[in-house]
Amino acid sequence: MKVMKFGGTSVGSADRIKDVAGLITGRGQNIVVLSAMSGTTNTLVEIAGYLYHHNVNGAKEIINSLEKKYMRTIALLFTGVDYRMEADEEIRGIFSHLRSLCRDGFGEEDEKEILAQGEMMSTTLMYLYLQQQGVNAGFLPALDFMRTNEDCEADSEYIRDRLEELLAENPGADLYITQGYICRNHEGKVDNLQRGGSDLTASLIGAAVDASEIEIWTDIDGMHNNDPRYVEGTSPVAELHFDEAAELAYFGAKILHPACVLPAKVNNIPVRLLNTMEPQARGTLIHNTDRSCSIKAVAAKDGITAIKIKSSRMLLASVFMHRVFEIFDNYRKPIDMISTSEVSVTVTVDSPLKLEHILEDLKALGTVKVDENMCIICVVGDLHWRNRGFEAAALDALADIPVRMVSYGGSDRNISFLVSADDKVAALRALQSRLFAS
Ligand code: ADP
Ligand code: ASP
Ligand code: MG
Repeated sequence: MKVMKFGGTSVGSADRIKDVAGLITGRGQNIVVLSAMSGTTNTLVEIAGYLYHHNVNGAKEIINSLEKKYMRTIALLFTGVDYRMEADEEIRGIFSHLRSLCRDGFGEEDEKEILAQGEMMSTTLMYLYLQQQGVNAGFLPALDFMRTNEDCEADSEYIRDRLEELLAENPGADLYITQGYICRNHEGKVDNLQRGGSDLTASLIGAAVDASEIEIWTDIDGMHNNDPRYVEGTSPVAELHFDEAAELAYFGAKILHPACVLPAKVNNIPVRLLNTMEPQARGTLIHNTDRSCSIKAVAAKDGITAIKIKSSRMLLASVFMHRVFEIFDNYRKPIDMISTSEVSVTVTVDSPLKLEHILEDLKALGTVKVDENMCIICVVGDLHWRNRGFEAAALDALADIPVRMVSYGGSDRNISFLVSADDKVAALRALQSRLFAS
């Protein structure tokens, strides 16, 4: 059994839904994970924003125009009256549910409920379309098996047990459809796996059913060696080790949700990145095998703040470090890069959340200097310290760009540079021509 996940663009119109239906049928009893149609989750976020600001009319206007879009899609998808009526009824039901949430006292639980409706709609449309085409699809409601625990981590045992039960209830299906992204929390309330979380859904399901492979279908032919949104002439990387894919996803390669690598890696399930618009393209295979001795790709992570703390107290160096990290830990604040000297340490964080409090606490230890609007440029590959020349090549590429910080040796897979956000595109392009130009 395989897990096949299709992202928002892949199911973004009636034609795309038809294409995906073609790609998933006749390929065995696989589990198909769908995102919301492209743009829908952003629109649902917008609706929730209006409701937080008590602008019910604003929210309802957006709901109305989104409903029109879905009605147009239904008209294009369904030729038979019965299926069209059923789709119409189901989708209208979801929109009246959305309207019922436009009320006083709107809060986080309502927001989660709203955000869940995009995946509800895309899977309903696909399920009914497959039935119209004579495909015996089974439906696995994600809210019946995808659950997180008190630490907001996937409850793997529950997911496995519930999926087994749900699959056993419908053993003869040609294939199964389910929603990405949405889940319940440990209290049973509707929740989600964060933006882009359908990749994680696919990986968790893959691990739960011990899939032979997880396919992530998107709008590009695999993981490229640089960010195609900013750099021309990028090309797909044929193979990546799980650890390389994890570094790239964490450091900004949007094609993959960072958390989705681990469940696949620990269960040794290969992940293949494929292009819905070009299904024959080879894509990228991510697995536990090393193809060594090369730099594979570059990624960039935005919104970084660097914090330099210079000790001004007579603390032992070890005590100083301990106190610094304790403060970040107190606020459950992850650190991305670290660089140290005898009396000072610089760390980076990727969001302003709780930063004000952290900076206040750090001032008890020494002088604090903050650089905002920074960007981490991450070079990934087989960068074992005995492999010569890779650090030099990366540094050489950045010769004309001011570099605030360098981090290497934390893993064998990554060398990271901190630069100003203004220099991000120039840095990515310089690395492309120095490292990958043929
Ligand atoms: P989906 O909606 O299918 O989950 P995403 O938008 O999340 O798709 O991810 C695909 C996009 O990731 C691509 O269209 C591309 O612009 C972007 N991307 C960023 N970095 C990379 C990279 N290194 N390789 C491929 N795509 C990348
Ligand atoms: N629909 C959600 C989002 O847009 C989840 C996903 O697509 O992975 O973030
Ligand atoms: Mg995505």
